[in-house]
Amino acid sequence: HAKQLGGNNVQFYRDSLQASSRERLLLEAQLDKALDKGQLEVFYQPKLTLSSDRLLGVEALVRWRHPQFGLVSPASFIGLAEETGQIRGIGEFVLRQACAQAHAWQSGGLAEVRVSVNIAMQQLRQGDFVAQVAAVLAETGLPAALLELELTESQLSDNVEDVAEVFRQLRGLGVRLAIDDFGTGYSSLGYLKHLPVDVVKIDQTFIRELGSSETGGDAAITRAIIVMAHSLGLEVVAEGVEEVAQLDFLRAHGCDEIQGYLFSRPVEAQAMTELLRARAA
Ligand code: C2E
Ligand code: MG
Ligand code: MG
Ligand code: MG
Repeated sequence: HAKQLGGNNVQFYRDSLQASSRERLLLEAQLDKALDKGQLEVFYQPKLTLSSDRLLGVEALVRWRHPQFGLVSPASFIGLAEETGQIRGIGEFVLRQACAQAHAWQSGGLAEVRVSVNIAMQQLRQGDFVAQVAAVLAETGLPAALLELELTESQLSDNVEDVAEVFRQLRGLGVRLAIDDFGTGYSSLGYLKHLPVDVVKIDQTFIRELGSSETGGDAAITRAIIVMAHSLGLEVVAEGVEEVAQLDFLRAHGCDEIQGYLFSRPVEAQAMTELLRARAA
């Protein structure tokens, strides 16, 4: 299924399961060069803080501007990049790009915006990942407190011990940590108390069915996640908010931040700069 990506960009939005094996082979062969050729780009999607209606954070989301296919979604190549190990180079590129951009916003006098960067388990497993993050912060000049790293709950599953150690070191740098796609990946919540985490991001699948009716499993799960996260001292972000009814529900139940098409789609850096400028004015 195709999804609108905003702007005049050609649509190419299929997950890797749906992409034909021919397309997949083509992408796989070309992904290696994509980074060198400057075809990878970082888009930004803002988050809205509900208590103040302020834009205090953005998520960095990579796209591949493919000469033939147009804008390729990360769903079509991140899995591939994880299989081949290319995710390390791609991940480092996104991290550096996002930190440099957030520093530019900060030094350009726009409100301080925290940037969230998705990371893959393979990056965390690199022996030098913490040093890499420290180096990127030093190079770009971004204060560590303005960087947040997101790891999906499903990648965490079998690796809580290893992740906990790396997370402690990242926390030591002053970086914030988030569990992404929360509620879909793991059967036990017990791990949360062993991990230094600041934020949980409720997976979009729960948000999708939210009405203002308060009934239904997704509403119950969403309320439970918010209560549980708050009682552990964590902030809660809801992803995939597309409708006012979903926003109203989340606001009523004390969710801290929302992210979704209702507020803004992920946009190019320049468009994000304009959005920040407009809100500062
Ligand atoms: P994610 O980190 O959970 O990011 C949220 C995804 O939901 C994004 O998809 C975003 O465009 C989409 N989204 C946001 N609001 C809405 C909404 O209201 N409705 C709907 N239907 N979707 C919404 P995107 O950009 O296609 O990224 C997909 C996934 O690819 C991300 O999910 C993340 O897991 C991964 N990804 C993206 N960039 C990177 C990266 O630099 N590194 C790694 N390792 N993974 C990345
Ligand atoms: Mg994310
Ligand atoms: Mg997510
Ligand atoms: Mg996701």
